Amino acid sequence: MSNLIDFMKKNNEKVLEYRICQWTGEKFPIFEKDVEMIKKLSPTFLWKKFEIPLPTLSPRARQIRRLLSRNEWNFYKSRSNKTGESMISLYAPENKAKIFEQKEWWQEDWSPMDYGFDFDFSKSMTEQFYNMRNEIPRVNLVTVGNENSDYTTGTWYCKDCYLINSSENSEDCYYWKLFQDCKNCVDCTFVYDSEKLYQCLNVKKSYNCTYLHNSAECNNCYYSDDLVGCNFCIMSSNLRNSQYYFENKKCEKEEWEKLASAYLWKRTNIKNATKKFEEVIQNKKKKYASITSSVNCFWDVITESKNCFFSYDVNKSEDCRYVNIWVEVKDNMDCNNMYLKPEKSYEVLWTIGTYNVHFSTYVFNSSNVFYSQDCHDCKNLFGCIALRWKEYCIFNKQYSKEEWEKEVIKVVEYMQKTGEWGEYFDVKMSAFPYNDSLACEYFPVKEVINLKNWVIESRKIFNENGKGIVYVLEWEKEISKAKLDLGWEIKVDIFWKTKNKEIGIPENTLFLETKDLKETISGENDDIIKKVIKCSVTGRPFRIIAQEFNFYKNMNLPIPDVHPNERYFNRLSMKPQRNLSIHNCTKCNKEVVSVYREYSPVYCEECYNKEIY
Ligand SMILES: [Zn+2]
Repeated sequence: MSNLIDFMKKNNEKVLEYRICQWTGEKFPIFEKDVEMIKKLSPTFLWKKFEIPLPTLSPRARQIRRLLSRNEWNFYKSRSNKTGESMISLYAPENKAKIFEQKEWWQEDWSPMDYGFDFDFSKSMTEQFYNMRNEIPRVNLVTVGNENSDYTTGTWYCKDCYLINSSENSEDCYYWKLFQDCKNCVDCTFVYDSEKLYQCLNVKKSYNCTYLHNSAECNNCYYSDDLVGCNFCIMSSNLRNSQYYFENKKCEKEEWEKLASAYLWKRTNIKNATKKFEEVIQNKKKKYASITSSVNCFWDVITESKNCFFSYDVNKSEDCRYVNIWVEVKDNMDCNNMYLKPEKSYEVLWTIGTYNVHFSTYVFNSSNVFYSQDCHDCKNLFGCIALRWKEYCIFNKQYSKEEWEKEVIKVVEYMQKTGEWGEYFDVKMSAFPYNDSLACEYFPVKEVINLKNWVIESRKIFNENGKGIVYVLEWEKEISKAKLDLGWEIKVDIFWKTKNKEIGIPENTLFLETKDLKETISGENDDIIKKVIKCSVTGRPFRIIAQEFNFYKNMNLPIPDVHPNERYFNRLSMKPQRNLSIHNCTKCNKEVVSVYREYSPVYCEECYNKEIY
């Protein structure tokens, strides 16, 4: 860390002070530009600026606190608390919250304003807000304009999709997230404008490719990393506008087809190929990070952006700090999953089309919103939940324009005294167990220990790539109280899901061992969609849906023998870790901030371009 801070100091990032994180006990820097940004984002009520205090948690602890409020793909079967109808939901049936099916939630036959209350200046804001939240109905999923895509959330205008998230305008796509304008893609993450992709990661404008990473404008490429404008390449890396390459060597068409066939179509071929692909990823010439056409940006996967500090998965954005997964945003700090030009936000999770929204989650097409959740098309809210088309409300109560600012000032001044002003929602407000939330993907847990009266009953490895430990306190329950220890001084109280509930698996289905799966897709018959396959790694049951079976037939791929979750985590493990360290460029010795491990050789931008182009 200190190396990194020295580097940042040299890059015009002056450290004003160091603070001790209240969760982790780690020392973290407050940069001058953090303070400038917080000042810029501090709101004004009745011409008086209410300064947001400096953070009390380190950037990663702040991120975990936010990410605990987002569940992207763990679905449950439950019943609507309004009609009793069966529905798919992000909330486990054990969850005490009231959950309505989306259409029911949007109906006008119930009013979130009925839950409004006068703020009690003798109790904490957190407690009062939490009590209101436990009463107000929540929506089971968040989707807009989809067709036949029931098992998805965070999806917009998708058709015939299954188990995808954070995706728009896509058709026939199954498993995982960040699809935009795609068709017929399975097991992919972060793919744009593409068709017929399988097991691809960070790929744009490509067609008919499998196991392709960090590439664009490619057709018929397999087991390759960092290709642009290529056709018929396999087991290759760092190629530009090339055709018929096998293991980075140019071949004649017939020779290529013969060699490539040893890595395609058959289950054993593919198993060998995926192992070999790890070497391709390991041995490719690496740019320090995936940052393109950007100025003064640090971390990873950044395109066409300016002044984005400690941020990743960023597109066309500027002046942001500690922000992840965002498109066209400006002046944001400590935010995740921000889409469609949100501007001026601090400590926010998931907004679309917002301006001046702070300490909030799931706010859409709204402005001047503080400490609020699940609000749509609103203005001037404080402490509100589930409002639609409202303005000047505080804790779901209507005020006049004049009263609103006066009352907000009173509440903010009170929260300044209680130390709540400037803090995001308490972790106890998360409705999701840690292993259902996005926090578990970004900060994976290595080991799970079942305790009974603080005596270890059993322990198991949860995720090889993880770091922390979870102590499960009531493991006979399906959702248990637990303590999360990420190597910190303080163990954070969380919930932990102790059993996986399989959805989409009807009763009386036939089980199939993975050894019974055929070598090629042509050996399987349509019956496969009626059966349940046991994952060869975790034993977890999963099904092949009919459209997916057609996809494998079309792509000439054998039926996968591991559960979709396992496939996702395998793909994630091939990405560089989100740690940062200082490297010296292999060629010119220039210092760069890289996402790769210290021992891995990397190139600076100039040397990489010279090597590749
Ligand atoms: Zn260099």
